[in-house]
Amino acid sequence: MHSAIIVCVGDELLAGDTVDAHGAYVGRYLTRSGLRVREIRLVGDSLPELRAALESAAIAADLVVVAGGLGPTRDDLTREAAALAAGSELLYDAEAAAQIQSFLGRRLDGSNQSQAYRPEGFASLANRCGTAPGLLGTIGACRVVALPGPPHELKDMIEVHGERIVDGLRGEQRPEGVFSCFGVPESRLEDALREIARDAFSGPPGAGPDIDWHTRAEPSRIVLRLTGATGTEYDVVRSALAGRFGGERIIQGEDSLASVVVKDLAARGVLLAAAESCTGGMIGAAITDVPGSSAVFWGSLVTYANAAKVEVLGVREQTLDRHGAVSEQCVREMAEGARVLSGSDVAVAVSGIAGPDGGSPDKPVGTVWFAAATANGTSVLRALIPAGRDRVRRHALVEALLFVRRVVTFA
Ligand code: ATP
Ligand code: MG
Repeated sequence: MHSAIIVCVGDELLAGDTVDAHGAYVGRYLTRSGLRVREIRLVGDSLPELRAALESAAIAADLVVVAGGLGPTRDDLTREAAALAAGSELLYDAEAAAQIQSFLGRRLDGSNQSQAYRPEGFASLANRCGTAPGLLGTIGACRVVALPGPPHELKDMIEVHGERIVDGLRGEQRPEGVFSCFGVPESRLEDALREIARDAFSGPPGAGPDIDWHTRAEPSRIVLRLTGATGTEYDVVRSALAGRFGGERIIQGEDSLASVVVKDLAARGVLLAAAESCTGGMIGAAITDVPGSSAVFWGSLVTYANAAKVEVLGVREQTLDRHGAVSEQCVREMAEGARVLSGSDVAVAVSGIAGPDGGSPDKPVGTVWFAAATANGTSVLRALIPAGRDRVRRHALVEALLFVRRVVTFA
C-alpha cells in the first residue's frame, strides 16, 4: 500500500486562527483512493521549515500533498520550497501565465507574476477557481503535489486533478460502511466488535474477511467505520450489534437521530407529540430541525413546572404529591395527557433530574423517566445518566428519540 503525507501551510494554522480543514479533506480522498495517510503536518510560512518538511516527507512517503502557500504574497513560499527540496530552479511557465491572465482578465503584472513560476521538471495543474496553478512533480522518488489554500479552490482541484494525483499509487479500495451507534458506550462497542469479529469471522489466518473498524466519539453518538467487509459481513455485524444493544440504537450512515426518527414516523404514517420537562423543548427543536417534520410532528409541550404538568397535561395533583414529578406515574400521565390533547398516534414524555441540585438517595441527579403512549397502551423506561446538567439533558434527548424509534419501528 502506498503512503502519503499531507502538509498544510500557513502561520494562521499554527496560531490557531484557522482550523485545518484541508488535512481532513485531502486525507479522506487519499484514503478512499487506497493510500495510507501516514501524517498530516502543519507548517508555518517559513522557507527553511517548509523546505525541511518537504524533504523529510518525500523520504518517508510515496506521495506528498501540500495545501496552501501558492498565493501571490511574500509569505506564499510553496513554489520556492519545492524547488529547493527538488534541487531545481524556478522557471517561468508561459502557459500558466496565460491561464492566470485569462482568469484575471488583465495582463499579469506585479506580485501575480510569481504565480506563473514552477520548479523545473514540475507540471502546472490548471486552477479553474483562482489564479494560483497547482504543481505536480517529484522530490527524489516521491511524487509531490501542491494545491492552493482557499478551500473552494482546493476542492475543485481535487475534483479535476484527483485521478492524476493518485495515478499509479492507488491501492485496492476496501469496501467500507458507516454506522451511527446511539447511547452505546465506546468501550462496550469495542468489546462487542472484538467478540463479533472473533466469533463470526474466525478461521485460518488470511482465509476469512479482513475486517477492521474505527470509532469516532461524538457528543451524542459513536460513528463506527467498518472496512474490509462486504454485504453479508456488514449484515452480520449490524445484526449482532443490534441484537446486543437494541436495533433502534444502530443506524446505517451518519444521519442525525432526529432525521432517522422523522423517516421512521413518515414510513409508518405516525403522528408524534412530545411533553417535555427536563429537556425543555430539545425534542421539539431536534425534530423540527429536520425538513419535512411538519408531516409527522404535532408539536412539543414544554411543561416544566408542576403547575404546567397539571394544567396543560392533566397530570393529577395526587400523583405529584405521592410520587413526585420525576416518576413513572408522572411521565405516564404526561404522555397520555399529551396524546389526548394532540390527537397524535404516539406521545413521548420526559421528566428527569438534570441537576446539579434536586437529587436524593432514591432519585439521584441523572434519574430520567420516559413514557411513550400509543393506542395500545403506555410503556415507560427509566435511565440513570451520569451527572452533568448538559450531559443529562443531551442524553435524555437521545434516549427519548430512541424510545420513539423503538415504539414505532421495533415494537
Ligand atoms: P492565496 O494566498 O492566493 O489566498 P494560497 O494558496 O497561498 O492562496 P493560503 O494563503 O495558504 O493559500 O490560504 C488562503 C486561505 O485559505 C486562508 O486564508 C484560509 O482561510 C484558507 N486556508 C488555507 N489553508 C487552510 C487549511 N489547511 N484549512 C482551512 N482553511 C485553509
Ligand atoms: Mg496565501
